[in-house]
Amino acid sequence: MEMDRESKSRFVAGLYKGEPYTSGEQPGFGVIKLNTNENPYPPAPGVLDALKVFDGSRLGLYPKQDGGKLREAIAAKHGVDSKNVFVGNGSDEVLALSFKACFGFGPERPVLFPDVTYSFYTVWCEFFGIPYETIPLGEDFRPSARDYDKPNGGIVICNPNALTGIIESGDFIDAMLDEADAKSVVIVDEAYADFASFSAVNKIFSAPNLLVTRSLSKSYSLAGLRLGYAIGDSRLIEALTAVKDSFNSYPVGALAETLGAIAIEDEVYFCTVVDKVRRTQNETADRFRALGFDVPESAANFVFVGCGSAERAKSILEYLRKNGVYVRYFDKQRIRDRLRISIGRPKDMDVLFEKLEEYLALQEHSGIE
Ligand SMILES: *Cc1c(COP(=O)(O)O)cnc(C)c1O
Repeated sequence: MEMDRESKSRFVAGLYKGEPYTSGEQPGFGVIKLNTNENPYPPAPGVLDALKVFDGSRLGLYPKQDGGKLREAIAAKHGVDSKNVFVGNGSDEVLALSFKACFGFGPERPVLFPDVTYSFYTVWCEFFGIPYETIPLGEDFRPSARDYDKPNGGIVICNPNALTGIIESGDFIDAMLDEADAKSVVIVDEAYADFASFSAVNKIFSAPNLLVTRSLSKSYSLAGLRLGYAIGDSRLIEALTAVKDSFNSYPVGALAETLGAIAIEDEVYFCTVVDKVRRTQNETADRFRALGFDVPESAANFVFVGCGSAERAKSILEYLRKNGVYVRYFDKQRIRDRLRISIGRPKDMDVLFEKLEEYLALQEHSGIE
């Protein structure tokens, strides 16, 4: 029997008791999975070809410590030097190491980030003992730069914001760079920026305290390979590398390095996939709005759907789930009345709307809303 956390900690002394992050369900294949923002399209064809001919004997040796070809491909994509690039096993790992490197040794001032954002930020702060303070977004889920004008040990902004999909402009990022106290670091988590038309990456040349993180999970259809990276001033990258080397000096496997570089080099395929997802995202948002749901403008591969009440959101979640369509619900303050729905293929979205309309018709018949 699975022991609860309380009895586990009594089982032997000194076990970790912190609250971990809970990710969305992975129900396996055969359902329509719109709950964890994966890409519905396969990775670039070159990735699949390379898998077939990969020289397995390479796996007997340790991989390159610095990400090798993958790091060069990332540097070329963004027009930066490879000394400005750090690679890791998914941007979650890159972000965790960044929190430690940038905030884990600093002054005892709180790191600031919005109340409605990627919930892993609080987990890392707790884990590393970093003081933090959440800054409430406005009613419209937009941040106000003024609210960050307070003593801080750094700022974290997810842009486009996880959960809402809303993107802030370069002016807002500039304001955050101004508000970061005494050169403390601003981390911009751009897990979804490939779907958007703005990125803060170019600002690293004028802002030595800016670190931008990215993921290959969403835009490159490689969630299962675990690849992410950070871009910033070489001094930030050196600090990040020192933290990584104090933890695991071979983080990116040889297979991931090879396949990740191929995925990034196929720009044509990448643009085709991103365009398809964006188009479906726009159509999906419009379809929800036409049915009376509130959907903020999204710059990511998901929509954040206001259902009117927490009861209705949960009831829709359950109905869809019973019918093989998985979407995400967060039982959290301010967002209990919403569902976050990832963008699938057009035919997946058609099934979603077919089931949703079925639900709405049933509700109308039974006279309850
Ligand atoms: C998905 C996601 C990540 C993590 O991505 P991985 O590269 O798969 O670890 C980080 N930040 C945000 C906001 C995300 O949505």
